[in-house]
Amino acid sequence: EAKMAGRNTLCFFDPSMQQAVAERAQLEADLREALVQGEFLLMYQPVVDHGGHVLGVEALARWGHPQRGMVSPATFIPLAEETGLILPLGRWVLHTACALLARWQHEPARAHLTMAVNVSSRQFRDVGFVQEVVRALAETGAPASHLKLELTESLLVEDLLQTVATMEALRAHGVGFSLDDFGTGYSSLAYLKRMPLAQLKIDQSFVRDLLGDASDAAIVRTIIALAASLDLQAIAEGVESEQQRDWLAAAGCTHFQGYLFSRPLPADSLEQWLGRHLGPPPLVSG
Ligand code: C2E
Ligand code: MG
Ligand code: MG
Ligand code: MG
Repeated sequence: EAKMAGRNTLCFFDPSMQQAVAERAQLEADLREALVQGEFLLMYQPVVDHGGHVLGVEALARWGHPQRGMVSPATFIPLAEETGLILPLGRWVLHTACALLARWQHEPARAHLTMAVNVSSRQFRDVGFVQEVVRALAETGAPASHLKLELTESLLVEDLLQTVATMEALRAHGVGFSLDDFGTGYSSLAYLKRMPLAQLKIDQSFVRDLLGDASDAAIVRTIIALAASLDLQAIAEGVESEQQRDWLAAAGCTHFQGYLFSRPLPADSLEQWLGRHLGPPPLVSG
């Protein structure tokens, strides 16, 4: 009888679920193909200080699907993680971002810029990750000191000792770390001081209603104070208005990112944006 009940539960599988499963399988097959066909691209979003000076950029992956158009990373990153495709995809992201970072080293007006790269849990946990980062730096000639890896709180909860060991190994090469989407996860504050972090990124969900929601404002103030007391930079993401920026700056936030300054841009548009903010790159002679 128990067996019958078990079998019956399978009947809850309805046509719309079946369609969702088929749809997912198709997207997964497309994702595999996308890597081979080179359908991914990187957009870059500037990070600025309160005066609007450019400090660096964050690389954000996009998938230009031949039929669906631009697919959001919110859709394909989780799928890539589940299937393991995040490993080759993440390698490509690192390599592409480091190649741009390396180019800036030869241009005095851009040589100070940092490059932030998002790293997912599965990628970070891979045994070859440290070597992969070291290789991307070596092959492109990008300076380790200008590379910032963005991690999320879930990594801390999963295996703190291993996480800290991997971070220390990369830190020894000069690579820096930010904790992304801070405040949305479950990390204990005690973990923070054990990690070689440089930055806390205040999640945009707290920034959004900062001016209207007293509890969001309190959370943001707390994160900024925490960052200051741990000697970390506080960076606010999702800044869309001058009022938000001014509030954040008055509260002690030093780094800003958001549509107020720029949307994520493809490499050539970024170069033009940087040209307007930092002056044009020198003409190549010869
Ligand atoms: P994230 O790292 O927290 O990136 C910030 C997200 O906020 C980006 O979304 C960015 O486009 C968006 N954003 C920036 N400024 C504003 C603003 O002023 N207002 C609003 N409403 N949104 C803003 P995006 O590019 O869709 O990326 C979503 C997430 O996907 C990222 O969140 C990151 O977790 C993940 N992701 C993106 N690229 C990669 C990648 O190469 N590797 C991995 N592992 N994850 C990635
Ligand atoms: Mg990020
Ligand atoms: Mg974030
Ligand atoms: Mg976020």
